[in-house]
Amino acid sequence: MFVDSHCHIDFPQLRDQFSQVLANMQDHQVEHALVVSVDIEAWPDLIAMVEKKPQLSASVGVHPGYKEAQEPTAQELIELAQHPKVVAIGETGLDYYRLEEPLDWQRERFERHLLVSRKTGLPTIIHTRAAAADTLAIMRDAQSHEVGGVMHCFTETKEVAKAAMDMNYYISFSGIVTFKSATELQAVARYVPLDRMLIETDSPYLAPVPHRGKTNEPANVKYVAEFIAALRGVDVETIAQATTDNFYKLFNKIEH
Ligand SMILES: [Zn+2]
Ligand SMILES: [Zn+2]
Repeated sequence: MFVDSHCHIDFPQLRDQFSQVLANMQDHQVEHALVVSVDIEAWPDLIAMVEKKPQLSASVGVHPGYKEAQEPTAQELIELAQHPKVVAIGETGLDYYRLEEPLDWQRERFERHLLVSRKTGLPTIIHTRAAAADTLAIMRDAQSHEVGGVMHCFTETKEVAKAAMDMNYYISFSGIVTFKSATELQAVARYVPLDRMLIETDSPYLAPVPHRGKTNEPANVKYVAEFIAALRGVDVETIAQATTDNFYKLFNKIEH
């Protein structure tokens, strides 16, 4: 059985096919998916979507790339995180890719989320793009190792992976690892120990080969597992078992 550690099935591309998305998960032996929050405006609909589905969980948080999003206080996030289906804080982090300094608002937002993780004991889902050094520095300053979390949709170097793992973080690979050009990332996927690895789709984006360019969905996480298994010369069951065990170990609020 597989799990998808990061998806956005509440986004318009997938929301209208909700029952099909769940049926496809079942057909592809994907037993659980974590639906990750990107802003508070959409959060009520997200939580309503997962509430009655044992195969879905939720996070709460505001994505670093959403500049105009409503800025919840730490206390507001802590209160939302009390919901029994909320198992993580995020996605949070730093994204310098399309944004220009001053980005103090983004760093402050990240710090607030890390504080909420420590206060609630819920792991952090970290998004980092073009900002690895600052991301790690803020994690360190916030004593983030105490609760740990996941570096989602990992596209950084081995050194960044090592630094994050040293802080009690898991490394999650998305469909990007299956892309032909991703040779450096494939080396990272060989390097990360099985007991620190997660897999995800980040759907509706980033569909893995052989579905590249199409709308992605949680069912496709099995292609990520198959690719990494071939890369490491192990059975797909080995990758499925390790990433599933890691998932429930990290997101231990999920009843299962
Ligand atoms: Zn992300
Ligand atoms: Zn995401």
